[in-house]
Amino acid sequence: MTFLKPSDRIYVAGHSGLAGSAIWRALQAQGYTNLVGQTSSTLDLRDHNATADYISSQEPDVIVLAAAKVGGIAANNDFPVDFISENLRIQTSVLDAALTNRVNRVLFLGSSCIYPKLAPQPINEDSLLTGPLEQTNQAYALAKIAGIVQVQSTRKQYGLPWISAMPTNLYGPGDNFNPAGAHVLPALLRRFHEATQSQAKEVQVWGTGSPRREFLHVDDLAAACIHLLKNYDDDIALNVGTGEDISIKELAEMIAQTTGFTGRITWDTTKPDGTPQKLLEVSRINATGWKASIDLANGLKSTYQWYLDNVSTLRT
Ligand code: GDP
Repeated sequence: MTFLKPSDRIYVAGHSGLAGSAIWRALQAQGYTNLVGQTSSTLDLRDHNATADYISSQEPDVIVLAAAKVGGIAANNDFPVDFISENLRIQTSVLDAALTNRVNRVLFLGSSCIYPKLAPQPINEDSLLTGPLEQTNQAYALAKIAGIVQVQSTRKQYGLPWISAMPTNLYGPGDNFNPAGAHVLPALLRRFHEATQSQAKEVQVWGTGSPRREFLHVDDLAAACIHLLKNYDDDIALNVGTGEDISIKELAEMIAQTTGFTGRITWDTTKPDGTPQKLLEVSRINATGWKASIDLANGLKSTYQWYLDNVSTLRT
């Protein structure tokens, strides 16, 4: 049995963002062409009434909730109230309207930062709500946990087959390369690229280099989302990752190589490391028949090429 029909009208909330645009592309490529979306300039999802009106007027069969206020460690640390308040409002607007309209299938996307800072690695879905969160992104994480619970509560109270997925750190075409807001991978791609261009002798990277992170290409995430929409119907917010992590030091070295930088790498230890390791256990999603397929070396290469092709029109 599949929950997704080719004729379904699918609303991708956040379809111009990193995750949403990849999901939109993948849906189109698989023949799902009845897609709808709005950019934030035409629909403010923090506005409960405007969102309710939009969803009622579109009558979607399926909603993918990929809209969120996201950012790297510095943005999360410096603007926590924006992250908790905006994400709670976006989620509540979309999920409330989805329920009012009895939208049958909803996929809510969260993040691997929902897990306790010191969760055993690799992190199993059962670690949710078992310990204190990492301070630098607690506000964002709590909003995402609230979203998971809203989805689970809707399943329990109304019996609708809504689901949630928790991707690890994402990267790929359409990422945010702005140093102030970016996550580590796009931030370093840009910094090493610019250093190579200017023939700088040194590039400074934040923290100690010892934290470990897992990186998932957005096209892999998009494939996972469609797979879950077709096949998955359970309470558990499923981890979506590669099952492999690397240290920030190793990542910096890979990015230096990708961009052709041959100078020195130094470490700014006044910047926070964040959580020491974030590696998802992916046996549950693998058992449903999905596995990541883009390895980091290839994903970095193609993302760097995308950056070079689009650098002149990127957000600064
Ligand atoms: P996190 O996974 O929530 O900690 O988010 P990030 O992707 O922003 O950061 C991951 C790790 O990369 C942290 O240990 C950062 O200190 C480190 N890092 C090193 N250089 C940078 C940088 O230029 N930007 C960002 N965002 N992180 C960096």
